[in-house]
Amino acid sequence: MTGKTGNLILIGMLIGTVLGVVGGIYAGDLFMNIKFIGTLFLNALKMIIVPLVVASMIVGVTSLGDVSKLGKTTGKTLLYYLITTSFSVLIGLILVNILQPGVGVDSIGEFIPDIVADSQGKSLLDVILGLIPPNIIDAAAKGKVLPLIVFSLLFGAVLTTIGEKGRPVIQFFESLNVAIMKLVNWIIYFAPLGVMALIGGIVAENRESLGELLSSLGLYSLTVILGLLIHAVIILPIMLKMFSGRKPMQYFLNMGQALTTAFTTASSSATLPITMECIEEKNNVDKRAASFVLPLGATINMDGTALYEAVAALFIAQIYGIDLSASDQIIIFLTATLASIGAAGIPHAGTVTMVFVLDAVGLPLEGIGLIWAIDWFLDRCRTTVNVWGDSVGAAIIAETKEFSNK
Ligand code: ASP
Repeated sequence: MTGKTGNLILIGMLIGTVLGVVGGIYAGDLFMNIKFIGTLFLNALKMIIVPLVVASMIVGVTSLGDVSKLGKTTGKTLLYYLITTSFSVLIGLILVNILQPGVGVDSIGEFIPDIVADSQGKSLLDVILGLIPPNIIDAAAKGKVLPLIVFSLLFGAVLTTIGEKGRPVIQFFESLNVAIMKLVNWIIYFAPLGVMALIGGIVAENRESLGELLSSLGLYSLTVILGLLIHAVIILPIMLKMFSGRKPMQYFLNMGQALTTAFTTASSSATLPITMECIEEKNNVDKRAASFVLPLGATINMDGTALYEAVAALFIAQIYGIDLSASDQIIIFLTATLASIGAAGIPHAGTVTMVFVLDAVGLPLEGIGLIWAIDWFLDRCRTTVNVWGDSVGAAIIAETKEFSNK
């Protein structure tokens, strides 16, 4: 896709988003009727996630050349994820302690949302157990990305150790990767319409809760959004500039299609194909680094989610008048980081894994019932930051010597 066409599509997507918001508020019925167009767009993105993740991870791993480099690259990638996620949780904790959005709010949560209740009893141990799927086809059929990543990492590593015999398989996945990326290119043409219908439908469905943004949940929403902004506009660009030497503004603008898609789909995984396209074609990040770092990032690197979980947990504590000690806040810091890693790249996943955080410091799960009304909106904001964090990570890892040496 040429730069000019890409820009036109991005403008189309931004106009689509605005039309969707306005239309969802003022012509809700119409937008409910065309919601299926958004679902088509979303399904098209989801349709290619499994082959994309498998092919790109295998290509990324095999292009590293040898298994020892794989260990180093994985280590550096995970370190980057941990550092940036910790930064974002810290920002969230500082802001929520200063702004105290829950103090003085007199309503308390009275219900536990269904998807949260369904996940009760699951622990972080289940997340670890889920890493190795007993049946890889079943994991793929259920769209579970993390086990697919683990399988592809191992499979790619093995391919690099069997010499000539591995060549045809590697070539197959290289071709598959190119074909899938071409398909992404086609799907992007449909994005302006898809984005408009998606956002229009969700705004129409949640029109009533828009008022919550201004009422008791207003200061809470503001705390989350302010934190996300500080992380996205200050911390991440500084890291990008420092470790990759790239111009943050240009890099950000080139990610426009992916960030708009993240906002409208509230899913890092569904956005992955477009993130990949923007990173490789527009920002010219080394394809080997991108295909390795991005699938991993879309599933485990969630700066926005981690920040949100920390703010939400403290907000709930403030509402219930529960005083959390410094050590409780350290526990929140740690569990919010882990819970964001454990959250899948799908809508509301962060709110579901927040159960770990609340459980860890003994806060009532009903608190989630209170913030649920506005989660559809904050989910979009944090997903956008999650994808931005992954994008910055790809540029930074591409500069490490494992990639720049070749
Ligand atoms: N929706 C987010 C994502 O896909 C996860 C979350 O719920 O925080 O990145």
